[in-house]
Amino acid sequence: MILDQFPRHPLTFGPSPIHQLKRLTQHLGGAQVWAKREDVSSGLAFGGNKTRKLEYIVPDVLASGADTIVSIGGYQSNHTRQVAAVAAHLGLKARLVQEKWVPWDEPVNDKVGNILLSRMMGADSRLDDAGFDIGIRDSWKQALQEVEDAGGTPYPIPAGASEHRLGGLGFANWAFEVAEQEKQFGVFFDTIVVCTVTGSTHAGMIAGFAALEELTGVKRRVIGIDASATLQKTRDQVARIARNTAELIELGRDLRDDEIQVLEGWAGDLYGIPVDSTMSAMALGAQLEAMITDPVYEGKSLAGLIDLVQSGDIPKDSTVLYAHLGGQPAINAYHSLWS
Ligand code: PLP
Repeated sequence: MILDQFPRHPLTFGPSPIHQLKRLTQHLGGAQVWAKREDVSSGLAFGGNKTRKLEYIVPDVLASGADTIVSIGGYQSNHTRQVAAVAAHLGLKARLVQEKWVPWDEPVNDKVGNILLSRMMGADSRLDDAGFDIGIRDSWKQALQEVEDAGGTPYPIPAGASEHRLGGLGFANWAFEVAEQEKQFGVFFDTIVVCTVTGSTHAGMIAGFAALEELTGVKRRVIGIDASATLQKTRDQVARIARNTAELIELGRDLRDDEIQVLEGWAGDLYGIPVDSTMSAMALGAQLEAMITDPVYEGKSLAGLIDLVQSGDIPKDSTVLYAHLGGQPAINAYHSLWS
């Protein structure tokens, strides 16, 4: 398989675990619901989806001779925390631009959770007032320049490791990992539900499952739940990265439009601000399964899954896999929601 030809630097324990969500399934009264857990798949500072993406980027970082990884995200970015972790693990420096992506005026927002962990791991984390945008940012380009001006050799990783040539490979491979686990557990997931914001997690899955479809002839639905609240940008970015990744892994055909589904309805009006459906989903996950989700990402995708199962959009005879992408450290900055 062509994916095997890309170098991969191990940062995870191996395949992320899958398990049934029996009490949630029973509560919803529809499709069978399982989860695949990126949140417990690495020993590097709580891991998450970026750790898997970075496995395919690290060989390029090491080959470049860089001494500093430069990346960007919000104050409570899980991505920059995982970059800081990987930099520490490799003995490199991390320079992080942390923008005010979320208008969440909790005084500890820039002090606890992800940003605290990044600081503990020695990253040079600097705050910036700019608001949310998944695109390429001037502040990030400036940080790259500053590292160079100080005599360092920077390696650029954009927000979410998404706009990176290799950013989709981690989750393209995830599709093949799922296929192996299906054999092991004697199950078939006809539907996958995943949170999408900067796009390369969902996009990688689309390319990976398309490659699997070419091999097996079996189709599935890979549903992205938008949590960006800037739907069109995320849709465009998912489509672009999915097509680039498909080409990189030599899919040999164009992706069909029906393979690229980003659904709206659970993001609320703003990235990072939970709405009622987010709060109910987080409570259900926690109280029925002790499965902790965050108010920025996974609470929103879980809300999507719950509604799609309850409405029958995902039919009763389906078996659905919820991709849990991590993100729990951010809940510390949202403690007031439960206080
Ligand atoms: N879930 C969590 C916990 C995340 O940290 C992210 C990162 O943005 C996402 C979902 C969305 O993934 P992506 O940015 O690849 O769309």
